[in-house]
Amino acid sequence: MPYEYDDQNIFAKILRGEIPNDTVKETEHCLAFNDINPLAPVHILVIPKGPYVCADHFALEATDAEIVDFTRTIGWICKELGIQPGDDGDGYRLISNAGVDGVQEVPHLHIHILGGRPMGRMVQPG
Ligand code: AMP
Repeated sequence: MPYEYDDQNIFAKILRGEIPNDTVKETEHCLAFNDINPLAPVHILVIPKGPYVCADHFALEATDAEIVDFTRTIGWICKELGIQPGDDGDGYRLISNAGVDGVQEVPHLHIHILGGRPMGRMVQPG
């Protein structure tokens, strides 16, 4: 299996309370906090509390309850921060980097929620 979880990664330490974080929302199965190096006016990371390395790991092995909670938390944050596209906000971008090609720095699944400014093109041309 490609999924070998390193419990010394920085988000595992945040979940264990060993290092601080700027929490936006905590639920039974996940934690959302502000990115320490924000790349946009809104830059929030949503992570599951379970030991999942990346999005495909989570999608294949997380429980239904974990997946629902994670997805709903993303929706709650977009709503609360007023970045839903439409009348109230101007939209956002979700990013989840995985592995070497995805340039994932922290090997614990996280979704970046980026908003508050136009995000530009999706990726740089190869
Ligand atoms: P990625 O390249 O997708 O793995 O992104 C990792 C993200 O974690 C980066 O945007 C970092 O700024 C962010 N980050 C690293 N350490 C912390 C921390 N202690 N608290 C909040 N965000 C962090």
